[in-house]
Amino acid sequence: MIKVSDIKKDFPIFERQINGNKLTYLDSGATSQKPNQVIDVMSDVYKNNNANVHRGTYVLSSETTGKYEDVRTKFQKFINAYDSDEIIFTKGCTEGFNLLSNSICKNLNQGDEIILSEIEHHANIIPWQMAAEKYNLNIKFINVDESFNLDIDHLKSLLSSKTKIVSIVGESNISGMLPDIKEIVTIVKSKSDALFILDGAQLVPHRSVDVQDLGIDFLCVSGHKMLGPTGIGVVWGRKELWDSMDPVYGGGDMIEEVYYDKATWAPVPHKFEAGTPPFVEAIGLGAAVDYLTNISMNEVQQHSDSLREYAKNKLENIDGLNIIHSLSKNAGCTFAMSIEGAHATDVSLMLDTYGVAVRAGHHCVQPFHRKLNLDATFRATGYIYNDEEDFDILANAIEDSMKMLK
Ligand code: PMP
Repeated sequence: MIKVSDIKKDFPIFERQINGNKLTYLDSGATSQKPNQVIDVMSDVYKNNNANVHRGTYVLSSETTGKYEDVRTKFQKFINAYDSDEIIFTKGCTEGFNLLSNSICKNLNQGDEIILSEIEHHANIIPWQMAAEKYNLNIKFINVDESFNLDIDHLKSLLSSKTKIVSIVGESNISGMLPDIKEIVTIVKSKSDALFILDGAQLVPHRSVDVQDLGIDFLCVSGHKMLGPTGIGVVWGRKELWDSMDPVYGGGDMIEEVYYDKATWAPVPHKFEAGTPPFVEAIGLGAAVDYLTNISMNEVQQHSDSLREYAKNKLENIDGLNIIHSLSKNAGCTFAMSIEGAHATDVSLMLDTYGVAVRAGHHCVQPFHRKLNLDATFRATGYIYNDEEDFDILANAIEDSMKMLK
């Protein structure tokens, strides 16, 4: 079982006081805090090893190259990929979707279809909209029902031989919804030859993910939401798919031979990693993977489940608080909330006076907010360094704010 008081000691940010209160950080859905183990590894590389990767013949460069490439293997094991070469480093989940949409869609035919869901993050909408406009493709959205889950019958009705891509969120960043990915992949593959892409931005930090078991084709991951630094992410894809795809960014490191009039590409993964990669950030991500692995992802998952259960009961007991939350037994510890007559930004400003950090806005899920007739919500998300007391403090602060905002 996770002992939050021990975990907190690894995170220097929790020594801070905010507006005279202890910090109650409930915005890990936006970005997680960083443990000393990640911060120290990165500063150690800058102090002792720093040299560009893949280029030098000298000691420092081979040290950084070794550390950078080791993270590929670490990440391969973390998500049970078939091969470490399937791990492509990006600067985040958003870049992963842009890479995939640019590389895949140019080979599709006019009128081909992409299926997303109504509750996708903009990172999994806009890149497809841009590609759809460029290549005359159509986008369809799976309905989300009243329990904030995907309507599987609606998905079935959307699938056809025209469906070439299905891309959906693995854990919703507003409702915590956890779609049954295995079931959905089976349905998609039985009714189409579409590629299945999973948005792992929230899922991978909170639950153990086995890409082979899920049967998916690609997974986009964000490093900064899983204790890693900013500016680093991963796209995993099956090797044969990467081999058949064209690169999106050109430059150094991604080539085999260059002439004045043409070039040939380096093998995967380098084909997709043009220029100097964020190698120190990648090494920091490796330390984050080690940190989570040491706790064990099963423990991380159990902590998320029990904290969610506690938080859900606590928040549901607040009169007049509207919660957008998956009604399923299983869901992430994420709660988007609204209060009739009070703007989400005002609520979050009030909560800040109690040292409670939550996010206000549409959380990059604007179409779904619009569907619910809400322009904004305030959102609390729990992670490994949060405990029941954090949600007690949140609930009390919400109740006090409601009295003051009336
Ligand atoms: N998808 C989801 C579900 C997210 O929550 C986020 C981050 N808010 C993203 C994608 C984008 O991730 P990144 O910040 O790494 O680009």
